[in-house]
Amino acid sequence: MPDPQIEKEGLLMNFKSFNLHPHIESGIKALGYAEPTPIQTQCIPSILREQDVMGLAQTGTGKTAAFVLPILQRLMDGPRKRIRALIIAPTRELAEQTHESMCQLGRQTKLKSITIYGGTKKESQIRMLRKGAEIAVACPGRLIDLMDQGTIDLSRLEVLVLDEADRMFDMGFLPDIRTIMKRLPKQRQTLLFAATMPDDIRELAHDVLHNPVTFQIGDIAPVSTVSHALYPVEQHLKKDLLMKLLDRTDTESVLVFTRTKIRATRLAKHMKQAGFFATSLQGDLSQFKRQAALNGFRNGKYQILVATDIAARGIDVSRISHVINYDMPDTVDAYTHRIGRTGRAARTGDAFTFVTSKERAFVWTIEKVLGEKIERRTLEDFDYTTPAPSGNGGFDRPQLPVKQRRGMNATGECTLAASPPTHPASSRRNGSRRLSAGTLFSSSSRLKSRKPRGLR
Ligand code: AMP
Repeated sequence: MPDPQIEKEGLLMNFKSFNLHPHIESGIKALGYAEPTPIQTQCIPSILREQDVMGLAQTGTGKTAAFVLPILQRLMDGPRKRIRALIIAPTRELAEQTHESMCQLGRQTKLKSITIYGGTKKESQIRMLRKGAEIAVACPGRLIDLMDQGTIDLSRLEVLVLDEADRMFDMGFLPDIRTIMKRLPKQRQTLLFAATMPDDIRELAHDVLHNPVTFQIGDIAPVSTVSHALYPVEQHLKKDLLMKLLDRTDTESVLVFTRTKIRATRLAKHMKQAGFFATSLQGDLSQFKRQAALNGFRNGKYQILVATDIAARGIDVSRISHVINYDMPDTVDAYTHRIGRTGRAARTGDAFTFVTSKERAFVWTIEKVLGEKIERRTLEDFDYTTPAPSGNGGFDRPQLPVKQRRGMNATGECTLAASPPTHPASSRRNGSRRLSAGTLFSSSSRLKSRKPRGLR
């Protein structure tokens, strides 16, 4: 048996090569990171050398720590209680997660991170700023607001990170980003991360980065630890198919995507009524409710989260075993981002996509990006021939195109680690049904050979 202490020390050898401050190393240890991921191995040395960096990395590759660690290292020396690092993120959820990474990895550093986003009172954010912090993680809208008011002083900024820049572009934030950039100190290090590289992002990168070092991890396709399957089904049968599929599949946490907010709410309600531990996450919910849904999903209170694209952006729940596209995403990028919610940090996951006859052409585009044909599956004993009810009451009628929402927003601060998620385990509670927590893979043969568990 290897000495556990030696093994523990050995695990940190690779991170040790970055010569990070012992307080930062202890944060890495606390999170149990054994070795750097490829994007971390590539980016960290350049960022430590204070070079500008463009990181093309799929979601789930460890890109957050790739910039968080060297930023913490840089901030260990120099003045405190002034904003020296600014991370701009497209959504509150991503901002919160990055802030949490800062807190967890920097738990011993006494550096302070705060979040700045709309939807909650400005006053508390201003109070936090007055108390002093070195790191701000912000969404563009509220940040501009505070800049206009003169309540945030960015004159001492040293590092700027534009995270998920492609998503910011999708969400219409690019003009805001340019406005912010114009008002930041010219002398700074800039880091830009994106999973995809549309022309506008290339242009932005060209304008804002100076002699950047570019790193690309894999091609711009969903993470390779995810296996994909398509379920051809007509619109009116999706709900029933979903229930049956979940009954027959071994899952941990399941993230279900719908195209609209109302569909997310209705589907979650329907699933709850059917006895599943389900909740929804969509942009119309108050920040409090969004956080409650997310926390509940993270700690296992809810096994199913039904969400829209924008709301689900940045969700980092390591136990998501399945992403189910109840509605087909609008773009390949959206597919990539959705699927990236599972298979995180080298775990494996399954991505199921419901495809109606009208959407089949789009499947070709996805397959082209993936570079492989996606397996088509049908569920045994499911009646695909049931006709659509006449005068369908709305839930499963054809969907309207997604209206892209602009920013959202609150504040938070932390000086110590955010609490780790808890995972209450139980298979059944209060007559509700819990999905079985088994192996993560769901091959078609197993789906077919397994008997429905009949938890109803
Ligand atoms: P990200 O791509 O930054 O969203 O990270 C995806 C997940 O990988 C997060 O849950 C991180 O906590 C985790 N992670 C990041 N770096 C490492 C590492 N070196 N080893 C293990 N897990 C990691």
